[in-house]
Amino acid sequence: MTTVPHSLCLALDGARFGPRAAALTPAWLWVHQGMVKHLAAYPPAALPPDTVHLQGGWAVEPLADAHVHLFLCGAFSKEERAATASLDRDGALQRILDLLADYRGRGIAAVRDGGDPHGLALEAAEVANRHPDRYAAVRPSGEPVFRRGLYGGFLGAGVETPREAARLLERNRRRGATQAKLLATGLNSLDRPGQVGPTQFGPNELREITAAARALELPTMVHANGPLGTVLSSAPTSVEHGFWAEPQDLAALAGQGIAWVPTVGAWARLAAHPGLTPAQRQVVAATDRRHREAIAVGFRLGVRLTAGSDAGTPGVRHGAGLLEEIERLAAAGLGRAAALATATYHARGLCRGSADRALGGLARGGPGGFLWLTADPVADPQALSSPRGVFLGGEWSSQGNARG
Ligand SMILES: [Zn+2]
Repeated sequence: MTTVPHSLCLALDGARFGPRAAALTPAWLWVHQGMVKHLAAYPPAALPPDTVHLQGGWAVEPLADAHVHLFLCGAFSKEERAATASLDRDGALQRILDLLADYRGRGIAAVRDGGDPHGLALEAAEVANRHPDRYAAVRPSGEPVFRRGLYGGFLGAGVETPREAARLLERNRRRGATQAKLLATGLNSLDRPGQVGPTQFGPNELREITAAARALELPTMVHANGPLGTVLSSAPTSVEHGFWAEPQDLAALAGQGIAWVPTVGAWARLAAHPGLTPAQRQVVAATDRRHREAIAVGFRLGVRLTAGSDAGTPGVRHGAGLLEEIERLAAAGLGRAAALATATYHARGLCRGSADRALGGLARGGPGGFLWLTADPVADPQALSSPRGVFLGGEWSSQGNARG
């Protein structure tokens, strides 16, 4: 059920918030007219008489997924993927809205869409972003920029020149895109570890394209694998994937404050793809091992690691894929608290737009947003999978008898 309590006070076993998912335990949280009025280890002094009181459990800031593809279905099975692809426009849009309702129910406040060729994410955003009580917010890219004929054909038509790229970005922007998605390289090879599909744009072209994005006030979300020198010199907002980056690239990511969305689960899930040969399976495993080592190094260097599931790619389901990504980042060397922060504080940071009450958080004085859990999500990863309640966009929805 969904309600709009004027005033909500939770006496919690603990709360997790901020860039390191710091723990406060015990914690008293008071949300009044949608704003966090109090978060402290002691109760608030005086509360309005109509305050709803809840007792026990943990609060954690809302989640966000910094890399998804809403128009794709996440199954390995060709039949299932084809069935999703063959939906008519109304059916495809309804399917996406259902996904967004599911995201919202899980406490995932927003998803950043990495591009689709049909403008479905743009259209879904128009509906979903008006209804934070029902749907996760969508940050759509529209049609990504890539070199016509190179990797990306399933995401759009591609461009030949930076000028054409600028026109595409302008068109996306007019339709509501909130960032520019650029494909700077291809995919990792399944046959030779370390081999990456061809570079799509020269340094000058990439700089021109990112300058066009900046002129449109669009942050850049850049798909890149292999050495990152050229990409980093264009000062992207985030690097997506980043397999086989050079050690100095990791230091530069940290130094330049560029977010890294390593999508570790999307690659790791490939190992289970029924279409791979045993030799390819070994290449997938070697690439995954190398990536996890780079993530551990990046984390030690202070890179702003950010959770993005790449949901919609084969093997990665929407919603569940984000929880899996958190676990994989934790296991890669971040530990659970820092891994949680990649999917809360940092992922929401990449999903933040101009009017973001909907994304909320636990910062005192700011718009409220949180998941109410039965246990500490750092001690018990299962706790995140079925929240007792979700407060987002000023709306409180809870499972069963959760009103005090
Ligand atoms: Zn992607």
